[in-house]
Amino acid sequence: MRRAVFLDRDGTINEEVDYLDDPDRLRLIPGAAEAIRLLNEAGILAIVVSNQAGIGRGYFSAATVEAIHGRLAEQLAAQGARLDGVYYCPHHPSEGCDCRKPKAGMLVRAAREHGIDVRRAFVVGDKASDLEAGQRVGCRTVLVLTGYGEQARESFNKATLDMTSFQPDHVSKDLRGVVEWVLEQSG
Ligand SMILES: [Mg+2]
Ligand SMILES: [Zn+2]
Repeated sequence: MRRAVFLDRDGTINEEVDYLDDPDRLRLIPGAAEAIRLLNEAGILAIVVSNQAGIGRGYFSAATVEAIHGRLAEQLAAQGARLDGVYYCPHHPSEGCDCRKPKAGMLVRAAREHGIDVRRAFVVGDKASDLEAGQRVGCRTVLVLTGYGEQARESFNKATLDMTSFQPDHVSKDLRGVVEWVLEQSG
């Protein structure tokens, strides 16, 4: 069974721009490529799981999302980093699919296709829904404060008052910080 980190895309790896619809607007968050390279070097799979409801909403096509992922791979490769898998949910929220986070469908599918032990895996994102998907299948959860992360932290802080909500296992300022923590946990 492989070790893995499931990575949200927008606001975690690249700058959040709300419905990224053009490869030319893709900007990596500083340190993100280096963080992914460290995972590569440690033999830990780096797998993107991304909600792309802009497809279901008719804002852009699946081909555009694929082109953005091609550009993402190029920009990472320029810094010696690679993704081991990229999964995205194209559905409109009203479709009730099983892959749109906070549902865990993409994680389940990636785990099956890559032989990942989800209970030893980590999920990283800038929204509560990213972490909830991981929490549902027993991943450890890490909030990044890039993208919408500060807002998500506030909502988690409020939720500590009602004991029904889970809390992230760790909070880091950015993906680079997350990976340093993950590598410590993995010993
Ligand atoms: Mg995000
Ligand atoms: Zn879906």
